[in-house]
Order: sequence, then structure tokens, then C-alpha cells
Amino acid sequence: MFLTGGGAILGVGIVTLDLVNQVESYPVEDAEIRALSQRRTRGGNVANSLGVLSQLGHVCRWVGTLADDDTSRWVCTDFARQGIDTSHAVVHPGGATPTSYITLSRATGSRTIVHHRDLPELDEEAFARVSLEGVGWVHFEGRNPVATGRMMDRARRFAPGIRVSLELEKPRDGIEVLLDRPDLILAGRAYAEALGFDAPDAFVADLMSRTQARLCVAAWGAAGATLAVRDGAIVHVPAEPPPCVLDTLAAGDTFNAGVIDALMRGLEPRTAVGQAVRLAGFKCGRIGLDGLV
Ligand code: ADP
Repeated sequence: MFLTGGGAILGVGIVTLDLVNQVESYPVEDAEIRALSQRRTRGGNVANSLGVLSQLGHVCRWVGTLADDDTSRWVCTDFARQGIDTSHAVVHPGGATPTSYITLSRATGSRTIVHHRDLPELDEEAFARVSLEGVGWVHFEGRNPVATGRMMDRARRFAPGIRVSLELEKPRDGIEVLLDRPDLILAGRAYAEALGFDAPDAFVADLMSRTQARLCVAAWGAAGATLAVRDGAIVHVPAEPPPCVLDTLAAGDTFNAGVIDALMRGLEPRTAVGQAVRLAGFKCGRIGLDGLV
């Protein structure tokens, strides 16, 4: 079966405080407008995907860096609420929890993000101390390429059969060094467009030709997703929109969780991506990431 795997899922990435303002429509520069609603949530791509994976019944661990401020304590409480183990996180005294200021437009469903961070990234020395006992799948955010590559190598050395997935959300200097390591690459439209692709099929074909991955998937917003299987066909899966799009924030993180979950359960790639598209579409009809199952 294709990329099936048991065991716990270890997610490696950043965690943020997301301050989300919903507005009627996105403001013009220098305007002053009132938000329709405001919420404070835990963010970070892999952290979000773990939140969905734990709802889907997986044993999840998160590793990344934490500040030692009140917000990071709140973040850990929120991870614990979802049953996600953070005991291997690395605390940086004096650091500040990264924050994303997010404006959600009710008119279009768009989400505009201003991110602030002043906290070191996880390095490979810290990752070397993280227990991989019982871990069947490691999911990485595509950042900090050299260190991330070494972390992937360590995971493979620890257990050659361990599954490794990589999210490529947007272009980052040197990120291509990671392409020959993962089993699964989950790419976003921003990454594809930065490389000059305006259609997902040509993009996944190109991506597959540059990797050793067995499956490459491109999420393409309201258009759905496209997958390329090694030595197989390129298939497009249309989106499954909800009756009303309320919140597309973290749709991609939900989608990535859906693909990983379905593959771990032994589904074939086309079916797995179909399941992920359905889950992400369902999420877009709801505010936030709770209650997806
Ligand atoms: P991101 O949140 O990273 O920007 P995308 O916008 O590409 O991610 O969305 C990820 C997946 O969520 C898409 O592949 C699609 O299946 C689903 N999705 C996103 N926006 C919509 C929408 N407006 N209607 C239905 N499904 C959507």
C-alpha cells in the first residue's frame, strides 16, 4: 500500500499567536475600520495540521521553539487541550512568541497576514535530542533548509521506514536542497507561482521531476488540488466548497493533515487527496479549526 504508516506523528515547525480580525471587506491603506469579530488562536502551519490530525485520532507530538512568555504558556495549554505532546519543545528565555495579525474579509473569504517573529528557529542540535521512539511519520515545515535537511536525515537514520513529509508553502532561499528527501511533498500555490507556474498540473510535473518523493500534491485554493504520483498520472481533484465560505484561514494546513491522515490509513493517493479536499472544504464553511470531526 502507498505510504501507509502507523505510529505517532511528529510535527516540526513554528507556533504562533494568531490575532484574527474579521472585517466586512479588506480596507484600503490608511483606512480606519471596525472589525466584525475578533479571536485569538494558536497558529503555525504544522501546529495547525497537528491540531487536525489529533482530531482525526492520531497521536501527535510537536517540536519547535517556544518563548518563555505568558503567550507561550497559553500556547502549550492549547496544545494540551488537543492532546498534543510538547514536552520536546525548546524554550528560549527572553524570546517572544511569534505573532500573526490576520485580517479575514467576509466579502471574499481572503486572509491577509502580517507576521512578526523574533525567536530562533529549531536547530538540528536541539532536534537531535528529540525522542523519535514510536514515531511513524515526521512532517516538516519547509523553512530553515540546511537544518531541516539534517533533521530529515536523522529521522531516516533512526528508522529507515519512517515516513517524511514536507510542506512547501512559499519560496525560501535554498529550500530546494530538501527536495530529494521526503516521501510526500505538499506544496502551496504561492510556491508554485513564485516559480512562474500559473497552473498546478505543469507545476506538479516539474516538482516531481526535481524530487525523489513518491507523491507531490499542490493545493490550489478554491480550484482544489492536483497530485502527481511517481511513475503515474497527474490528476486534478476539484474543490468541494461549503454552502458558504466563512473562513479559509488554515485551509491548507487542514488539507495537509487530511492527506497525511488518509495515506496513513492506507488510502491510495487519488482517494487520499479527495478526502483532504473534502475536509478542507468543510473547514472553509466553519470558523476556526475545532470540531472538524
Ligand atoms: P492555504 O490555506 O495554504 O492558502 P489553499 O487556499 O490552497 O491553502 O487551500 C487548501 C485547500 O483547501 C484547497 O486545495 C481546497 O481543497 C480547499 N479550499 C481552499 N479554499 C476553498 C474554497 N474557497 N472553497 C472550497 N475549498 C477550498
